[in-house]
Amino acid sequence: MGNQRPTAAADHGVQQLKPAAGPGVSPAADRYSRQILFPGIGPKGQERISASHVAIVGCGATGSALATLLARAGVGKITIIDRDYVESSNLQRQILFTEADALESRPKALAAAAHIGEFNASIEVRPAVADLHPGNIEELLHGAEIVLDATDNFETRYLINDYAIKTNIPWIYAAAVAAYGATMNILPGETACLACIFPEPPGGTVETCDTAGILNSAVNLVASLEATEALKILSGARNALRRTLLSFDLWQNEHSEIATGGPRHDCLVCGHREFHHLAGERRPHITLCGRNSVQIHEHHRVVDFSEISRRLSPHGTIKFNDTILKFWHGAYEISLFDDGRAIIKGTTDIALARTLYARFIGS
Ligand SMILES: [Zn+2]
Repeated sequence: MGNQRPTAAADHGVQQLKPAAGPGVSPAADRYSRQILFPGIGPKGQERISASHVAIVGCGATGSALATLLARAGVGKITIIDRDYVESSNLQRQILFTEADALESRPKALAAAAHIGEFNASIEVRPAVADLHPGNIEELLHGAEIVLDATDNFETRYLINDYAIKTNIPWIYAAAVAAYGATMNILPGETACLACIFPEPPGGTVETCDTAGILNSAVNLVASLEATEALKILSGARNALRRTLLSFDLWQNEHSEIATGGPRHDCLVCGHREFHHLAGERRPHITLCGRNSVQIHEHHRVVDFSEISRRLSPHGTIKFNDTILKFWHGAYEISLFDDGRAIIKGTTDIALARTLYARFIGS
């Protein structure tokens, strides 16, 4: 009933009519009125939010929720970077996508931008169907005043950490698997950075969505916490920021918070200002969360899907649209993007994936 404008004041049984958006009331003031009413934000905070630019790295479950919340909150410009396409197994938790997106294998960044346009056409969304790497990070994150982690791997997080410390912009770490979630704000010069807390990526067997599964409530909760901290930064409420590494397990009803403290003098990144990830010195292959696959991203080329389709048709099944070509050959599925990047499903063997790429796409 709050949406029926002539009687909007009846939200809490108050028998009083409020004016709808019209002469004297800006559409933005009406759209964001409930958020402006919240004292932590207010009209000034909303103005700052509307003038801000956020980058979301990854648009799976965490990225979907972040993009939804921040776009509805009126963040003026949102860059969404994702290298993947929508699949039916995503729909359980990735709240921005539809069955049609999965059927058409739409790239997540483009599907996200299209759906955001349906509920908030007044903000600017910049989708990038790309893998964030040292060679494109400055271009893709340029102008963003905060970077939000919605990735599924530590390699990209260390890369974001290097970039954020070097350029002095805040970023927020977030991770979720099974019923577990964790998040931490990184404010360069003020708080510990990711490398202060985790000098090395976790070793041994790391649980992923692929092995441990994931609850949609856990990943959406971590995204909600991250979005709230982002709104604090954007609206200028830095005193309200959490300065802990927060983690929880929703199934076990456990949660903990560890104070992260300030930057460590002996930290390679924020102490010694050595940016090895940004320099591309520690970049191995990347396998994706949620499936048995390898991404090949070392071949930048413009590809002609019609030509490739003709060439590959004797070797398997092919389907393509404007943005992606899918090719099934035996136990393998190759998804080729129009810049030459490919995701090869059915193996975690890098050498085999490279061989399949060279054989079917080109070396
Ligand atoms: Zn550090």
